[in-house]
Amino acid sequence: MAGKEKRRNAAALDGDEQRLRRKQEETALLLRRIKGFVRWVVEEVAAGRSPSIVIHRYRNYCSAADSASPSPCSCSYDAPVGTDVLSLLHKDSQTSRLNVLLRVLLVVQQLLQQNKHCSKRDIYYMYPSIFVEVAVVDRAINDICILFKCSRHNLNVVGTTSILLMGWIRFVEGEKNVNCMKNVNAASSIPVSIEAIKDLVSVAHYILVVEKETVFQRLANDKFCERNRCIVITGRGYPDIPTRRFLRYLVEQLHLPVYCLVDSDPYGFDILATYKFGSLQLAYDANLLRVPDVRWLGVFTSDFEDFCLPACCLLPLSAEDRRKAESIIARCYLHKEAPEWRSELEAMLQKGVKFEIEALSARSISFLSDKYIPQKIKQGRHL
Ligand SMILES: [Zn+2]
Repeated sequence: MAGKEKRRNAAALDGDEQRLRRKQEETALLLRRIKGFVRWVVEEVAAGRSPSIVIHRYRNYCSAADSASPSPCSCSYDAPVGTDVLSLLHKDSQTSRLNVLLRVLLVVQQLLQQNKHCSKRDIYYMYPSIFVEVAVVDRAINDICILFKCSRHNLNVVGTTSILLMGWIRFVEGEKNVNCMKNVNAASSIPVSIEAIKDLVSVAHYILVVEKETVFQRLANDKFCERNRCIVITGRGYPDIPTRRFLRYLVEQLHLPVYCLVDSDPYGFDILATYKFGSLQLAYDANLLRVPDVRWLGVFTSDFEDFCLPACCLLPLSAEDRRKAESIIARCYLHKEAPEWRSELEAMLQKGVKFEIEALSARSISFLSDKYIPQKIKQGRHL
């Protein structure tokens, strides 16, 4: 065990150094490309020409799939589905899009030169009268990522979210020693920069992602990790980019299976789908942020009967729930990649009911940790 851990440590150290060197090289290259691009725009304007640039449009999914005859669509994780042409001198709506892009690019250039980080909200407040709203900055950041074929973290534009985790894992993040193994049942809320992580060590057998913080706390109270060799994290609802990157990083480094536990309702399913397929807004980056092998542990509509829950735990789907479920069922990725997920969602819609993970407490307060999760994992009852 000790020898195995040592070897893993040595391999990790080499990997950490390589990663740091690669990051420095990537930043230097990106800076050169940004400078070259800005110089080209200035020269074009100085020469009286109207510089125009082409931005690829990406779409990782659409809601056009029909169960009777699933028509092929052009959605892709790698290839663009179209283009937008942005011009500076033409007085149309795209003019301001390029103007915003250039302003945000100057901020990014400063960040990279000074090795600093900031959020899209920070950038918005630098020119609020020009940007009007944060969504405008958001689109410009996407445009820049697509133009320079990079991700938001390469631009140093990242939020400062903390990751909530516990279990059999330890690592060093910058100067900070994060050792969850000291007390595997204690929840740690840690602001994590993937680039600063090194010496990652884990003896976990799997990673469990839970939708809600309340469920995470339930597992912490039940000392779930003491009895189960795992790492538990939560994205507290829809996962943000740092949480998704962190999960992806863990999967790549530790090669562990990932199980996801969400409510049995269309929102829970959408959160699950965000982990597996990525979001539409960050379609150009979906392939780097998603965890394709995530397994859906529950809760399923069928769990209600399988685990003999009282009828009062079931809630009827609202009209809004139905609309959302129907639009999700039509997503092309379910047809192409996860037909069994689609069938489960159809069953939910057919039965017209939903229930929350916490409803399992109706059996007993620790039923979720004592029976439900260990049993389902052991018996392979997941999709
Ligand atoms: Zn599609």
